[in-house]
Amino acid sequence: MSKERPSRQKHVPQRTCVVCRQKKDKRELTRVVRTSDEGVVVDPTGKRNGRGAYLCSDSTCWDQVAASGRLLNQALKTNLSRADLAAIAAQKPVPINHLRNQDREPLTE
Ligand SMILES: [Zn+2]
Repeated sequence: MSKERPSRQKHVPQRTCVVCRQKKDKRELTRVVRTSDEGVVVDPTGKRNGRGAYLCSDSTCWDQVAASGRLLNQALKTNLSRADLAAIAAQKPVPINHLRNQDREPLTE
């Protein structure tokens, strides 16, 4: 009666990008959170309190946020200024190079 799922498959939490509406692994998304003290900020830890929205790593989604904050404003129930949006979009994640899964070498100079 009970549905059993194969246990070898790890459960990866999925979130939906507010711009393209695609579901992706949480790790591939960047959380943007509306905080009570700092306004809307990018939350790399994903642990800050507040209403959150997720953006995927696709740079076009971030460009879309910079161009129009409608979707992000909707998701966060706020009204971001163009300057706010630009500040958020500026923190667009760097594309992950999947060939480099090792620890990043520290930049020493
Ligand atoms: Zn997206």
